[in-house]
Amino acid sequence: MTQAKSTLITRIGELVTNAPEGGGSAGYPGRGGCHRDSRPAGFAAIPDAALVIDGVTVAWTGLASQAPAADAVIDAGGRAVLPGFVDSHAHLVFAGERGAEFAARMAGMPYQAGGILTTVAATRAATDATLRAGLRRLADEMLRQGTTTFECKSGYGLTVADEARLVTLAAELTPEVTYLGAHVVPPEFGGDADGYVALVCGAMLDACAPHARWVDVFCERGAFGAGEARAVLAAGRSRGLRPRVHANQLGRGPGVQVAVEAGAASADHCTFLTAADVDALASSGTVATLLPGAEFGTRQRYPDARPLLNAGVTVALATDCNPGSSFTSSMAFCVALAVREMRMTTEEAVWAATAGGARALLRTDVGHLAPGARADLIMLDAPSHAYLAYRPGVPLVRAIWRSGRLVAGAP
Ligand SMILES: [Zn+2]
Repeated sequence: MTQAKSTLITRIGELVTNAPEGGGSAGYPGRGGCHRDSRPAGFAAIPDAALVIDGVTVAWTGLASQAPAADAVIDAGGRAVLPGFVDSHAHLVFAGERGAEFAARMAGMPYQAGGILTTVAATRAATDATLRAGLRRLADEMLRQGTTTFECKSGYGLTVADEARLVTLAAELTPEVTYLGAHVVPPEFGGDADGYVALVCGAMLDACAPHARWVDVFCERGAFGAGEARAVLAAGRSRGLRPRVHANQLGRGPGVQVAVEAGAASADHCTFLTAADVDALASSGTVATLLPGAEFGTRQRYPDARPLLNAGVTVALATDCNPGSSFTSSMAFCVALAVREMRMTTEEAVWAATAGGARALLRTDVGHLAPGARADLIMLDAPSHAYLAYRPGVPLVRAIWRSGRLVAGAP
């Protein structure tokens, strides 16, 4: 079995590189406010482009007219090529589903608090085989829609044994595993949040830390307060886990400040922010990860990305894929929502769904297509990235390469 060593993809209508220093690139229109030196250079694309994959990495990008020879050639026929999506926030290891709860919510029924606990009960009762099958189905669904890197959280086990099970299963499919024992206080603790936080920071962390890269906490009224969140993040950090925070989803609160103070890679949701929260994010390295699928699924107001972008905050987009509030695995859908509902330009939204997600995971090898990047890329059945928002709901991802290998679709 022989495999071509290098592959040239040529006649690309628009090659989104997110690497403006590459030859022939266009700048990043529409990004207002100040630029700090450490800020991402932003969206960049090359028209009439070509790209060479060599092994698992991108070897060359530039104008098609200047492309070097390669062992194999693929004609893109004027289609767009983008970095694979980086979904930096997802809850994929669970059992059961909550379609009836969603339908009731859309019919105007009041939101049933404790929805998470429905999934916790189903997850605890499920076998490893059931959980693994569900996770693999969702991961495959994501890949076929162009997501080549994803993060996966625990948080539906909430016992030492069940949380350990969830992070272990997640680690079978992605290195970006997040320990979210601090999702909600489970019912058997009868409201004893201190007792549960002690478990999350103790035996549960001991069992989960070896299988995880990240520690997360749901810092929200009704979940965990600032003091509890700080304790969880500090404990995780002491075991080598990097912090990230569910922050300011349901109302204003301390989540963003806690995230920034902890040096979190990302503060996620950021739906209700004060000016002080925006300032704190702007003066930190913490990414603001917006999750418009959650606003869609709960009929909440969408966050406005403009104040964040104008202040120079790094913004990521992710699906928050979970069975309760956001059961979408489609990054393209999130891009469309961000453009239509959150005042992001198509360039900003696509950057946030690729390079932004990579920043939220502290990854430099994905989210862009500069030479040396991992060859994770997607070809659209469309001439430009803008079609992801211009043609919402249409399956435009035609072919997907991961680590240089065609893994789904056909060019
Ligand atoms: Zn979440």
